[in-house]
Amino acid sequence: MKTLPMFLNGEWIEAGDGATREIFNPSNNQMLAVVTDGGELETEFAIAHARRAFDEGPWPQMRAPERAGYLFKLADLIEKNADALAKIETRNSGKPLREAKFDVADATGCFRYYAGLVTKPLGQTYEVSDPVIQAMVVREPVGVCGQIIPWNYPLLMAAWKLAPGLAAGNCCILKPAETTPLTAIELFKLIAEAGFPPGAAQLVLGSGSTAGYALAASMDVDKIAFTGGTATGRKIMTAATGNIKKVTLELGGKSPCIVFADADFEVALEYAMFAIFAGQGEVCSAGSRLILDKKIADKFLARLAEASAGIVVGDGLDPKTEMGPLITPAHMEKVLGYIEAGRSEGAETICGGHRLTDGALAAGNFIAPTIFVKTQPEMKIVREEIFGPVLAVQLFASEEEAVSLANDTIYGLAAGVFTSDSGKGLRVLKKLRAGITWLNTYHPTFNEAPWGGYKQSGIGRELGTFGLDAYLETKQININLAPARLGWFRSAG
Ligand code: NAD
Repeated sequence: MKTLPMFLNGEWIEAGDGATREIFNPSNNQMLAVVTDGGELETEFAIAHARRAFDEGPWPQMRAPERAGYLFKLADLIEKNADALAKIETRNSGKPLREAKFDVADATGCFRYYAGLVTKPLGQTYEVSDPVIQAMVVREPVGVCGQIIPWNYPLLMAAWKLAPGLAAGNCCILKPAETTPLTAIELFKLIAEAGFPPGAAQLVLGSGSTAGYALAASMDVDKIAFTGGTATGRKIMTAATGNIKKVTLELGGKSPCIVFADADFEVALEYAMFAIFAGQGEVCSAGSRLILDKKIADKFLARLAEASAGIVVGDGLDPKTEMGPLITPAHMEKVLGYIEAGRSEGAETICGGHRLTDGALAAGNFIAPTIFVKTQPEMKIVREEIFGPVLAVQLFASEEEAVSLANDTIYGLAAGVFTSDSGKGLRVLKKLRAGITWLNTYHPTFNEAPWGGYKQSGIGRELGTFGLDAYLETKQININLAPARLGWFRSAG
């Protein structure tokens, strides 16, 4: 099998020491590809080229409409290759094909959105108290940006990072997760085809502790943008202190989905399932805690358990599949460990709670959709991000209790509320300490709207105008319209 290379300074290159990594399909754990495995050396090489490309190269100096042209071209190429990209994403990440298709369309939209946005007004002018000063603000690219992404949305996360970073004129170095580099490699083939100048966008393949850490710690990287676990985010933040890098972090969550008794029963039921079981629960904003009104608990949970048990789990390429496998056998074991912990702490499953091994499923990393009831707020399954298809149900008797349970977490990424009383819905949403909130829906995400968390779910926002802002410096310019002696120092004459 030919080793797939990384993309450094406009060239396809393999790691100097010949190191490689095998890439697997989580539906059957068969090998899909062999990729080169870069380390500190290759990352330093990429950083040096990005530095030169930023300090001397054409990309940051290029006018915004011209840069936008490259992004539009890339978006067209992604669209042209959408079917192939979606299939590769499904094979590598396990997610059902219909989800992978959404991701590819979203990634296309993300490049188009930022191509358009960067040509819109960006600066400001001020009328200040000094009558001879014209004050203004211009926005400039931050510089060399290291972008480190996780395995759950490999192509989409690459787009969320590269689109605003490149649109703003930065030179970007992307490092995908170790397990899911395949769509990033395809994306960089399209970047090469679109003709981006060398060093504007580079792809480093390697582990987090070597290549990722080198990006975070480098004195020549001006900004680090990271999506991944909170523990890794903490390490990256610490590594970034050397040169006081700009840092944006999109981290984990334990997001609540609150269902009031007056909600449309059928709508709330399906969204409660979608909130946790879409993406097999490997979603940072997953609604992994169902905060449910006691008044409807019996009926709601009976239906929820029955419908969740009916979810078709299987290979993502099978059109019947509604939920795929977990990313690796090790991650599956971690999720099974949480299920075990839930039971030993006294919670009870009303659905799932085990690995699926019937027929072809035995070869993959499949876990049945799992729902825990009789939970207590201090249990691990209520407090920690599981990142799998495991839902913890918490019951409430009043609006205040619902809010208090929902906010009782170190995280603050997302939250959903279901009620037919829109006043109550908005009242509750405003009390929730979370960056992304939904009323009578769950999970819709838009390139136009900011994405990011409160508390330990991160720092900064991606997407929307906020996402571009995070890749721009702000420069104040003051122009003296009538230069004259200041008369401050007598010795100056
Ligand atoms: P992870 O933190 O283990 O890895 C993410 C990336 O960081 C990978 O590319 C990895 O190689 C790299 N990395 C690991 N250690 C590093 C280090 N010491 N220095 C630099 N880079 C390092 O996360 P994961 O397991 O791949 O992804 C799952 C996590 O991502 C979950 O916690 C999830 O909530 C989070 N996530 C958050 C969002 C969001 O928008 N908030 C989106 C998707 C995923």
